[in-house]
Amino acid sequence: MDKDKELSKLKKKILKFKKNFPNKNLVFADGNKNSQVMIIGEAPGKTEDKLKKPFVGRAGKLLDEFLNRIHLDRTKVYITNVVNYRPNKNRKPTSEEINEFKKLLFKHIEIIKPKCILLLGATAATAVLNHKGQLSEVRGKLKNIKIMNSYFDVLTTFHPAFLLRQPSKKKTVLEDLDKLKKIIK
Ligand code: URA
Repeated sequence: MDKDKELSKLKKKILKFKKNFPNKNLVFADGNKNSQVMIIGEAPGKTEDKLKKPFVGRAGKLLDEFLNRIHLDRTKVYITNVVNYRPNKNRKPTSEEINEFKKLLFKHIEIIKPKCILLLGATAATAVLNHKGQLSEVRGKLKNIKIMNSYFDVLTTFHPAFLLRQPSKKKTVLEDLDKLKKIIK
């Protein structure tokens, strides 16, 4: 499969949704398309919309710090979001938006074909695991699930924006990331 060609086809499909997010930019992905690790967040924030790159604001800086702790950086991971446009007034994506973008996200996963997917927070867990309950029920648990026609290891952890409000949970995320490191070794 020619990943560049498939990714640009996908980007064109996602651009069709721009009309639902007036004055917002497409924030597609960042990092290494051949990485073993695909990280999925919720939706871009203000800085991400401005710079057209996922996780480049405060939460993104924290994500980079965590990745460094396990000797990873953006040259070694691939990063995207469930919803590729910033919802107005920083609201959470609606369940309709999650459902709509989920199909495109699954295609994105199929193209990247990572060894492991790291889900950041509840929106990503809802979209990928179809998990509607508390995040604590799936956090830190390694699952192997079928997406499109392939199986993927999927690990869920707290969203870095949550950690900015609850720094005491950083230790838990480091434990989750140790699990991730073991999978990709
Ligand atoms: N939060 C997210 O979920 N994604 C981003 O890209 C930035 C903040």
